[in-house]
Amino acid sequence: MKLLQEKIDRIKQQLAAIDDMTPGSVSKQYNVCGSPSCRCKDPVHPKKHGPYYQLSYTRKGRSTSRFVKKYQVALVRRQVRNYARFRKLIELWIDTAMELATLRRSTSCSPSPKGTAVDRGGVAPVVKKSRRPG
Ligand SMILES: [Zn+2]
Repeated sequence: MKLLQEKIDRIKQQLAAIDDMTPGSVSKQYNVCGSPSCRCKDPVHPKKHGPYYQLSYTRKGRSTSRFVKKYQVALVRRQVRNYARFRKLIELWIDTAMELATLRRSTSCSPSPKGTAVDRGGVAPVVKKSRRPG
C-alpha cells in the first residue's frame, strides 16, 4: 500500500513538471499551386511547394488543423510530446489509484469480531457548515 502511494506521489511530481502541451500531431505537407507554368507542375520532375507543417487535433468531437510556422515546429512537437506524456501519467495514476483503492477496501473497515463495536465504516462524521444567506 505504501509502495502504491509512493508511486502516485512520483506521478504527481512528474505531472507538476509538465509545462506547455497540446493534443494532436504535427504533419508535413507539400502543395501544388495554381500557376500552370510553375515548377510544381513540371511534367518530368515536379517540385511541390513546401514543406508546410500543420498541427491536427480533435477536441470535444471537433477536428481542427492549424498551420505551424517552420521555426515553431520544434516547439509544437515538444508540446505534443508533453501532452502524450501527460495522458500516459494520468492513465498510470488511474491504474495505481484503482489498485490502491481496492487494497484499502480489503484492509480497512473490517467488522469487529466481537460484534460489539459500532461500525462507522471509516467515514468521518458530516459537519454542516452554517452559512449566512446573502
Ligand atoms: Zn507551384
